Amino acid sequence: MSRSSAQPDSGPASPRIGVYVCQCGGNISDVVDTATVAKTAALIPGVALSKVHAFMCSEPGQAMIAEDIRNEHLNRVVVASCSPFLHELTFRTAVHRGGLNPYLYEHVNIREQVSWAHHGDPAGATVKAIRLVAAAVHRLRHVEPLEEIRLPNHRRALVIGGGIAGMKAAGDLAGKGLDVVLVEQSATLGGRVNELSTLFPAEESAAPLVRRLNDDLQAHPRVVVLTETVVKAVSGFMGNYDVMVGPAPAAAGAASGADPQEGRHLTVGTIIVATGYDYYRPAEGEYGFQRHPQVIPMPEFITLLARASGETLEWQGRPVRRLGFMHCVGSRQIEGVHPPQPDGRVNDYCSRVCCTTALHQALAAKRRFPRMAVFDFHQDIRTYGRGHEDYYLRASQAGIMFFRFHGDDPPVVEPGSNGTPIQVRLKDWLTWGEEVVAPLDLLVLAVGMTPRDNRGLVSLLKLPVGADRFLQEVHPKLRPVETAVNGILLAGTAQAPMAIDETLASASAAAAKAAVLLAHDEVHLEPFKARVDPEKCVGCGVCFAQCAYDGALVREEGQREGAPITRAKVNPGLCVGCGACVAVCPTRAIDLQGWTLNQFEAMVDGLLSAPQPVAATNSNPVSDGRTH
Ligand code: SF4
Ligand code: SF4
Ligand code: SF4
Repeated sequence: MSRSSAQPDSGPASPRIGVYVCQCGGNISDVVDTATVAKTAALIPGVALSKVHAFMCSEPGQAMIAEDIRNEHLNRVVVASCSPFLHELTFRTAVHRGGLNPYLYEHVNIREQVSWAHHGDPAGATVKAIRLVAAAVHRLRHVEPLEEIRLPNHRRALVIGGGIAGMKAAGDLAGKGLDVVLVEQSATLGGRVNELSTLFPAEESAAPLVRRLNDDLQAHPRVVVLTETVVKAVSGFMGNYDVMVGPAPAAAGAASGADPQEGRHLTVGTIIVATGYDYYRPAEGEYGFQRHPQVIPMPEFITLLARASGETLEWQGRPVRRLGFMHCVGSRQIEGVHPPQPDGRVNDYCSRVCCTTALHQALAAKRRFPRMAVFDFHQDIRTYGRGHEDYYLRASQAGIMFFRFHGDDPPVVEPGSNGTPIQVRLKDWLTWGEEVVAPLDLLVLAVGMTPRDNRGLVSLLKLPVGADRFLQEVHPKLRPVETAVNGILLAGTAQAPMAIDETLASASAAAAKAAVLLAHDEVHLEPFKARVDPEKCVGCGVCFAQCAYDGALVREEGQREGAPITRAKVNPGLCVGCGACVAVCPTRAIDLQGWTLNQFEAMVDGLLSAPQPVAATNSNPVSDGRTH
């Protein structure tokens, strides 16, 4: 441990700052000289002690910080470790355990931003780590204790979309004793699953699944289902959303204006978006689509097979003796090879379910019509789900013939020359590029999933959209069902292609997260919001023009020296703390709590005035919290 005799130069409450430098088991210390960082940090005015630990986020590491706060009377803490996304909250909690306000804490990222970014330059990385620590110490001299913002919470959820994801999420929430309103734009619940016959991998029928989910909803008096209804307007913030719903444009009665749901207002605390997906619509000519009537998309084939009677499958009055399935139609597209979507991009993602769907349907057809020859044309077979690979094995054993093409050299569908209406010509890479011609009576395109055109809802809810045009979560692993908009969650295929089991799991995850958000009568928000100094605000309105978040800034009438004035006032529920208003205020009347301009200026001072590295020696050791 290094102790400093240096006195803080200025700042509130004589800061006694503890600096903790993590080695991350070598992830940091293999590059950054952590002992030198800690030793040098001790020279920065205001630093009372500095320590190194192998794993600062471990329980001993956190306990060390909490004990030091109590025993060494620290009143500010810096931890230099990994990304704040991972452990800022961990250390804020540790600081709180030590009895300190959790916002008297600063997190410095010396792993992703230093040791990983500069692994070829240990000396430079060490200097950078010292400078970042110095900036944090300087900022901490200007921080003040902050409190979470507490707002009333309306303990009711809105679920948008009545497919299986929305139904499952609504049922789960009601099962937890919470009120739910489910709105669905069509007349029926169940969504696209209503179009399916049997479901893999358990081979149960689709209809009973929808029925069970519906029964769950009906059993709960806490669920209100509004079909033929859409969201018309949304305002408010987490815990306090005011949503206006009304008849869906195409719904019966909408034109009469007499619908009792017109303009109905709902107040909800959280919103789950479960608006589902659309099937990819092939371009004209893509694998012969719309040029040959014998080329049809998968949903049409599923209906055809489900309704087939007799000993032969028939398509447009002709027996189907040779049936083909084409994978990856509208998925895994390659620029320059496949036609672009309306936004100019291709769908380069894997739709995840179409491989298993193609094999499932191929097997179903073969089982039903054993003498039919079935062909499968794929780039790869991606049957990744539990039990899905069995379909591939069973299809192989059933005599389904597989051909493999390269994505940048897709098969060509042309008029048949051997008595069949069409044929598929391709280079087969299972036989090292041999050219193959497969005569067919019917070709089924295993169309992928595409994002639903949700532009209206995206704009109303300010939902983030990914590069693939599906709705975007905050973090795929750490916050997989949350959006960047507080209180708005995602369920099912509105977010990404998913199989039915994944869709239901995602819906349950969204419901669990919503239940947490609705657990209390108050919502707690981070305090990093804009704050207006009413003495400095001259009501010029420049900040209003800059703020992109409706309602985050409101006008407030007041008085100054007996004269009426208008001032800006922040609605903390809607302010996201972006700081755009701060940058434009001519009188510095508006600032961000916890990230003030003064603090930024102090950080710059810290970066520029950081001490030169002082190598730690055995005679001048630095603590690892355990041994020296
Ligand atoms: Fe292609 Fe199979 Fe992925 Fe669908 S699941 S996009 S067919 S690889
Ligand atoms: Fe608006 Fe951003 Fe200022 Fe908040 S910080 S009031 S969201 S501009
Ligand atoms: Fe007040 Fe500054 Fe906003 Fe002008 S820009 S209204 S002075 S807070």
